Amino acid sequence: MSDAESPPSYYRATATAYGGFAAHSGRSSADVVVIGGGYAGLNTALGLVERGQSDIVLLEAQRIGHGASGRNGGFVFAGYSLGEAALLRQLGPDHARALFLCTLGGVELIRKRVGRYRIPCALVDEGVLWANWFRDAEVLRARQRFLAERFGVHWDWIPRETLRELLRTERYGDGLWERNALHLHPLNYAIGLAQAAAAGGARLHEESPALALERAGQGWRVRTAQGEIEARHVVLACGGYLAGLEPHIDRAILPIATYVMVTEPLGARLRDCVNTDAAVYDTRFAFDYYRPLPDTRLLWGGRISVRDRAPQAVRDLLYRDLLRVYPQLDGVRIDYAWSGLMSYARHQMPQIGRRAPGLWYAQAFGGHGVGPTTVAGELLAAAIASDDSAWQRFAPFGLASAQRPIGFAAAQASYWWYQLKDAWKGWREG
Ligand SMILES: Cc1cc2nc3c(=O)[nH]c(=O)nc-3n(C[C@H](O)[C@H](O)[C@H](O)COP(=O)(O)OP(=O)(O)OC[C@H]3O[C@@H](n4cnc5c(N)ncnc54)[C@H](O)[C@@H]3O)c2cc1C
Repeated sequence: MSDAESPPSYYRATATAYGGFAAHSGRSSADVVVIGGGYAGLNTALGLVERGQSDIVLLEAQRIGHGASGRNGGFVFAGYSLGEAALLRQLGPDHARALFLCTLGGVELIRKRVGRYRIPCALVDEGVLWANWFRDAEVLRARQRFLAERFGVHWDWIPRETLRELLRTERYGDGLWERNALHLHPLNYAIGLAQAAAAGGARLHEESPALALERAGQGWRVRTAQGEIEARHVVLACGGYLAGLEPHIDRAILPIATYVMVTEPLGARLRDCVNTDAAVYDTRFAFDYYRPLPDTRLLWGGRISVRDRAPQAVRDLLYRDLLRVYPQLDGVRIDYAWSGLMSYARHQMPQIGRRAPGLWYAQAFGGHGVGPTTVAGELLAAAIASDDSAWQRFAPFGLASAQRPIGFAAAQASYWWYQLKDAWKGWREG
């Protein structure tokens, strides 16, 4: 569905006006062509600009932030879709620590850029709460201990009684507070990145899908509906909205949907439920995630599915979830509901690398992409601008096929399995 056809999300309805970027036309050349106007592409373009390179073209099939980057929960925190313990098991302590800590660098860079470029994206630097859906507190203790001992990262313990003051629900046990985290208006953040890259000389084009990619001498040729560009480097950053340009890169991805809705402005009722400015998610595999918005609305997200659902179906599903936690919101009006596609690899880690000389990719950020896409942009910009090899830290997480369509069935089955396990645990606790 194109942006023109889709009903507006809350983010689209409150987007910064920026006049748009003209569609691409004509024959030209550039040092770098970036394909995809989500965070991965925008951060690469801006990273290049910040390194003194401006001969960059960025092509976005629809509008900036059309994909996950303009639809997400707005949580900005450390880590990846793959949990820290699995990262450590797979890579060993030094490598795992280095990869985890660079996402903290990503969070910090987001703060800095929002300040430096004055991006009006309603950034709230009040951390993220991880609320225990269960009474058994061991999952919190184990994670708190693990992060402190292995990575030197401290999350604060929030006892049940304190958490009840912050989140006015009987639903949760204790919680952890990731202080070094924030939340923001994701689409306005994407638009701000785009404007910063354009101000630095990058040429951005919306409504300009890249239709074909082929070798041209030592470089590459990218065709659009009304033109073509020859470039030394091409960066593919199309997330779950598959580009259809290079089969090995596309087939490594499973596009998975997740859903968001936004209530009407709640006024004083908001503090009767969410009495904190932090963003919140819970300890289940299929967790709810939510945060207060500046105009007293509540943004509520959750669910993972292989199906991209229509707004009414999203609304119905998420409304039930909302009332399980905050029954006091019964009857509240839902003003917006939408879905978005995340891109997952089988190994649940980002795929950042080089497929062939001059052909780069950054994808598979899953549901935990705002920080890691910032890291990816930095790594690829440094690789292209100065031959930096730090991107090779992601080499263990390659382009293994996601095996669509069987991969979809496997992903849905494992989601149901974990959902069942969580339901069983909840039932046993009574
Ligand atoms: C509903 C939802 C909630 C989420 N919540 C969070 C959260 O709270 N915190 C968090 O860290 N992460 C969250 N995520 C994940 C995060 O949003 C993503 O990991 C991240 O935005 C991925 O960025 P991207 O640039 O890789 O992909 P995208 O943002 O999807 O961008 C890809 C772009 O490529 C374009 N494109 C595709 N093909 C072509 C082509 N041929 N030519 C030109 N352009 C093309 C698409 O139109 C699209 O705009 C969420 C995701 C969703 C969907």
